Amino acid sequence: MTSTRRRLWLVELFALVAAILLGVPAAHAAEEASLTPDRIGYDVALRSDATGTNWAGRERISFTHTGTGTGPALREVYVRLWGNGADGCGGPGSPSPVRVSRFEGGTADALSVNCTALRISLTHPLSPGARTSVSFDVSLTVPGRMARFGSGGAYRYLGNALPVLSVRDEDGWHLAPDVGFGESYFTLAADFRVVLDHPSELSVPATGTTTTHPGGAGRSVTVSTAHHARDFAWAAGPFRTATATSPGGVTVRAHWTADTDAGGVTSARSEAARAVDLFGERFGRYPYGELDIVLSPDFTFGSMEYPGFVLVWTGPDGSAVVHEIAHQWWYGIVGNDEYTSPWLDEAFATYAQDLFYGENGQGCWADVHWPRPDAAITSTMGYWARPPGNNGWSFVVYRAGSCALHDLERELGSPAMERMLQQYARDHWYGVSTNAAFMRAAQEASGRDLTRFWEEHRIRAHDS
Ligand SMILES: [Zn+2]
Repeated sequence: MTSTRRRLWLVELFALVAAILLGVPAAHAAEEASLTPDRIGYDVALRSDATGTNWAGRERISFTHTGTGTGPALREVYVRLWGNGADGCGGPGSPSPVRVSRFEGGTADALSVNCTALRISLTHPLSPGARTSVSFDVSLTVPGRMARFGSGGAYRYLGNALPVLSVRDEDGWHLAPDVGFGESYFTLAADFRVVLDHPSELSVPATGTTTTHPGGAGRSVTVSTAHHARDFAWAAGPFRTATATSPGGVTVRAHWTADTDAGGVTSARSEAARAVDLFGERFGRYPYGELDIVLSPDFTFGSMEYPGFVLVWTGPDGSAVVHEIAHQWWYGIVGNDEYTSPWLDEAFATYAQDLFYGENGQGCWADVHWPRPDAAITSTMGYWARPPGNNGWSFVVYRAGSCALHDLERELGSPAMERMLQQYARDHWYGVSTNAAFMRAAQEASGRDLTRFWEEHRIRAHDS
């Protein structure tokens, strides 16, 4: 993501309040390792009202117990309702924006973690190697304010709206709170099939490969399939649209609100096509075929990445479209726990954006300062959410983090850095990387011991 500078103070104030209100729940102790449900499939059908504000339907999440042998059965799963991050549990007359009910395949507890987490006890414990699913009704109400899950004018945005399966690994279930600034998300790559029934006058850009066909009277059905995608986002509204194919063969669909500057649209479309090709050459070919860029000058939250779908604040002087497209690799294809290691996507996307613009960060480390004495590039979102608040987090994670990568490139040499990042992406393609995994990849590519480099740049395998 990126924030527009003028809104940072507001974002930070909100984050401070959020940090005070939300505790960080301890993850469940790992009873048994490597039980992560994986090979996840989402089957979703939702129908919207006339304006795209309310969506209701059914979601099924299928998954496999990836353990082997006679290990313990999986008895529960957690689903994350990130769309409730800002509004929490709501109140009388103002329910949470994301509501779930009528469970099959398991029994749901009450919502937890400020109504962003839901524990479902499986009806039948899942043995190693076996596959099952849970299903439930979903009802989404797009909040009436500008946000990734929010609205502006006649346009509705549904980022982080769809409930997603939480991750369970050797640390247990990942139940980080929504810190209210930046990101806290962590999901595994999954296959999606999402059917969206909506009024024909609304166009519906979405993650994945989409086709739209006629539905009932005055309605259309947009069917979207995505493979190895970490999340699913969409928008609805009377967007203006244009489709182009990059020289490298990626379909780039642009959608913009009526008040978006025409020059901004032209430059975002052109940069998107060039960026998706350049990053494909540098990090590995863009695997999703289709990329939707949604442009508006009204995104007070800045810009935000989703698989195959980005929301990009766009003004007359340009946009952060290159940064958000870089996230297709750093977050999307190469996943990370954003709560634990936000730099693994943000610093990398910023570094990639610099590559696109031909900037090499020469001398950047001289400008690096630490807003708190114990801050580090690898500090967690939990660290930045703790009092005195997140002041300076974006400087450290984005700017100092990308500067460290430029310095690493100077340490290794550009050809070795390029080869290393390609190999690193290949090694974690559709998977999940960690600080330690990246440090190992860089160490292997370097002829020298990098211990001092990591210390100087405050990059640690494990951080708080
Ligand atoms: Zn970003």
